[in-house]
Amino acid sequence: MRMETYIDSHTHLHFEEFDRDREAVMARARQAGVEQIISLGTDLFSSRQNLQLTRQFPEVFAAAGIHPSEAHRARPGDVEAVKTLAQSDPRVVAVGEIGLDFYWDSTYHREQYEIFREMLRIAGEIDKPVVIHNRAAQREMEWFFQEAGIETLDGVMHCFAGEVIDARFYLEMGLHISFTANITFRNFRAIDVIRCVPLERLLLETDSPYIAPAGTSEKRNEPANVIRVAEKIAEIHRLPREEIARITTENARRLFRLPDPAL
Ligand SMILES: [Zn+2]
Ligand SMILES: [Zn+2]
Repeated sequence: MRMETYIDSHTHLHFEEFDRDREAVMARARQAGVEQIISLGTDLFSSRQNLQLTRQFPEVFAAAGIHPSEAHRARPGDVEAVKTLAQSDPRVVAVGEIGLDFYWDSTYHREQYEIFREMLRIAGEIDKPVVIHNRAAQREMEWFFQEAGIETLDGVMHCFAGEVIDARFYLEMGLHISFTANITFRNFRAIDVIRCVPLERLLLETDSPYIAPAGTSEKRNEPANVIRVAEKIAEIHRLPREEIARITTENARRLFRLPDPAL
């Protein structure tokens, strides 16, 4: 029988936090059964860096995008360059990370909306799923989709922090929902949100190097810890962890059209 396997659907392997020991981080991920990893760009430059990482590590796939917190720094031509990059190589499997973030940034809302709209446009044009970041913009994002007349979308709401009503909105659009290790924190209360997501729409992620799980001495998070997210979800759903591993691996593989390494 195959060992329990995982996909970390959201990490930033290109970050300098991993520069001194990226090989060791990847070795620990492999050891933990993390078979595939999606590493997301936050701007044009880092999207290119992630494509480079797919050459170095066969289990890594990339996403190209402009993060809302980088939107105001985007230069003319960056959007089209992201599109070209995302189209240029089958190892770029998504457009991300993109979205709205009114937590870190209360000043550049116009730029954020503009880049988000453009990123959604290119994702549609090249037929790739999107990875959406939404922080402190729950209502605004829903209004945005309604106003833009976007009723269905192929992709995932990552590091989900909304309520049940928000989760239902995105599920109805056809989106997946993914959780990070913040669900392992003692003060995490949104168990009803996890319960309301059908298992076939669920993804696991670390968002590493951010959000190390509860009880770890390391401040930096890494893909091997995706198991901790699975564990917590398994506990909430009262299912074996292997079952959560199997279903979420299938989901990520289907959404991002990843090859099955066992075949
Ligand atoms: Zn994010
Ligand atoms: Zn991220």
